[in-house]
Amino acid sequence: MRILVTGGAGYVGSVTSEVLLHQSHDVAVFDNLSQGHRAAVPAAAQWVQGDLSSPQEIGAAIRHFQPDAVMHFAARSLVSESMTHPFAYLRDNLVEGINLMEACVAHGVQRFILSSTANLFGAPESVFIDEEAAVSPGSPYGESKWALERALHWVSEVSGLRYAILRYFNAAGASEQRGEHHEPETHLIPLVLQVAAGQREHITIFGDDYDTPDGTCIRDYIHVVDLAEAHLLALQALDTRNRVYHLGNGKGFSVQQVLEVTRAVTGATIPAQIGARRSGDPARLVASSDRIREELGWSPRLSALEQIVASAWRWQQRHPQGYGT
Ligand code: UDP
Repeated sequence: MRILVTGGAGYVGSVTSEVLLHQSHDVAVFDNLSQGHRAAVPAAAQWVQGDLSSPQEIGAAIRHFQPDAVMHFAARSLVSESMTHPFAYLRDNLVEGINLMEACVAHGVQRFILSSTANLFGAPESVFIDEEAAVSPGSPYGESKWALERALHWVSEVSGLRYAILRYFNAAGASEQRGEHHEPETHLIPLVLQVAAGQREHITIFGDDYDTPDGTCIRDYIHVVDLAEAHLLALQALDTRNRVYHLGNGKGFSVQQVLEVTRAVTGATIPAQIGARRSGDPARLVASSDRIREELGWSPRLSALEQIVASAWRWQQRHPQGYGT
């Protein structure tokens, strides 16, 4: 298939582009490089520097590449930033996604895969969150993704576009060639590895008074290559109907547990300090991914926490400045 990947210079988008190319798909990456890295884009992908805020630019890219499917990764994606800059999320994520959907409909693209998030569940009512759980976004970021999910529903109703919504829990780890590099970095595992590498003095744990066994937040870390493979399965499954899936490994790890595993993997001490809670953080987010496992046979291969951290550590050691080196 021919697949247009928005945000293909970013973390999950670039790794998914790599996996799609390995499976012999044709890939075009559309990205404005506001957060992504040109060096993250696989050489075999067509490259389009463009902005989803411009209907003309995305329309031209789709007209030119004529994709069979679009995978939409491009978005602002930080819970905490969305609490301080809500309009960049509530407006830009939404408008840019709608521009993309409209261009797909105008040019006859019939398959759409949306990156969504566990932040749809700000105060989950059950331990394992499945696709039937009540949505109650935890931040403007989560709200922007929920609005896009609803928009896709209606676009599909009226135009016949088929979609898969993939709600990621905590993407982490690296492929052999691509890893996580944000400026500034805010995610736990890359930050902890920067401490292990001596680039930072300590990690700050955002709150140790949550209602969890050790008081620190629990998250479900899923290897980015396992996530990418779920996109391929979802794409194939669109031939029959729309899909919504939760992508996690079903095991929660606290911030303290992530630190312990990282100390074991790297052999570094990794000093930690307790800080204030971070705005918008729920105590616990753990996926039930039974639906995609049962319906599509998805089975994460690389998502033991040790494997995730070891892969990210290998990438960090090879690229101490991320894509800057
Ligand atoms: N976290 C932390 N210190 C940091 C960065 C993150 O304690 O410097 C915690 C954060 O509060 C959350 C977990 O680590 O509970 C994962 O955060 P991350 O930003 O990696 O992903 P998110 O869950 O926000 O998508």
